[in-house]
Amino acid sequence: MNSIEESIFSRFASGEIRPDKIRYEDDDMLAFDDISPKAPTHILILPKKPIQSIAQMEAGDTELIGKMIYRAKVLAEEMGIAESGYRLTINVGKWGGQAVPYLHIHLLGGQPLNEDIEHFSHGE
Ligand code: AMP
Repeated sequence: MNSIEESIFSRFASGEIRPDKIRYEDDDMLAFDDISPKAPTHILILPKKPIQSIAQMEAGDTELIGKMIYRAKVLAEEMGIAESGYRLTINVGKWGGQAVPYLHIHLLGGQPLNEDIEHFSHGE
């Protein structure tokens, strides 16, 4: 993993560059489509405050992370996947599968999600 400062999500959060498809933005967070979707709906939600991962989360970040989870819930409703169900995932560190060293929540849904969601690709 690169450093948090070098990560592309850092540049998204600061507004230096914009992700392709933004789904939600406010002063606290940014939500956008994953560039390599693992399900028909695959949105990433990241805080504007730079936090590398849940491992670096502090006690004062609980409200922020709570707001991000609430936003995932609202986005799921907006995307029409709330009733069928969806998955929120946060990968933490190397063995947790975190590729980008900037905290983000995955919102996945739109099809039944088995444990092996890595094998999903559009059109299958
Ligand atoms: P993780 O493995 O939890 O760190 O997830 C990183 C996610 O970021 C992966 O699902 C990637 O497909 C996604 N990703 C990487 N670069 C971009 C980008 N430029 N725009 C949108 N999503 C990205």
